[in-house]
Amino acid sequence: MQEQMIDLSGDCARCFGLCCVALPFAASADFARDKPAGTPCPNLRDDHRCGIHARLRDEGYTGCTVYDCFGAGQKVSQITFGGRDWRDGTREDARRMFDVFPVVRQLHELLWYLTEALTLPAARPVHADLRRMLERTEALTRETAEELAALDVPAHRQEVNVLLLRTSELVRAGVGGGGRKKNRRGADLMGARLKGADLRGASLRGAYLIAADLTGADLRGADLIGADLRDADLTDADLTGAFFLTQPQLNAARGSAGTRLPESVTRPVHWAA
Ligand code: SF4
Repeated sequence: MQEQMIDLSGDCARCFGLCCVALPFAASADFARDKPAGTPCPNLRDDHRCGIHARLRDEGYTGCTVYDCFGAGQKVSQITFGGRDWRDGTREDARRMFDVFPVVRQLHELLWYLTEALTLPAARPVHADLRRMLERTEALTRETAEELAALDVPAHRQEVNVLLLRTSELVRAGVGGGGRKKNRRGADLMGARLKGADLRGASLRGAYLIAADLTGADLRGADLIGADLRDADLTDADLTGAFFLTQPQLNAARGSAGTRLPESVTRPVHWAA
């Protein structure tokens, strides 16, 4: 299997609006209202498009502009359920689809990390293991709805994580600067003043960087898997070669035209030009 052939970004045209139905929202800075899991958002149109797509941020739905299903929506809609719209089946059919969507979303996120790891030359010693895990994970996404609902996702995630950690060590070992030794895994850095900080090659896995000031910070070669970057200020920061940074993480942060990004992500449209 060619890893680049896996569809790992959302294609709303081939999805039945699953993220707007299956997932729960809590009224907050990210969502203007509460919505229980399995209930359609009132803004979802009959054609599965968002009725306020162009005004999401203005209407208090910033969370929707940040979200990405990593291609799980179209996989569940078109593969797992064979193109059957949840609106056309029984209530039980719809519930099964909504239960399976978050499972496949997690698997597709793992596929995204594994795919990126396979692009990193420093991780070559584990490429064979990564490729095997990628194939195994992709095969899981093609199981039946019943099998997916029963899948022990945390156990599989743990197996994948062992490889991603090894990848991280290999990649960061080759990064210069003092940041390489910094292990800020899971650190509480909310609102931290990290302006201009040398975080080259640092591990920021799962770090809480909410509203941190990272302006001008040097994050080259840093591991950012699971780091919470909501409202973190990346203005003029250098993230060249930073890895395991997903588009939803970046979308939740602030930045500028001067922010340097790794090739794996694109500059969010809402960032200042
Ligand atoms: S506001 Fe739009 S994008 Fe957000 S959940 Fe509702 S329909 Fe979906």
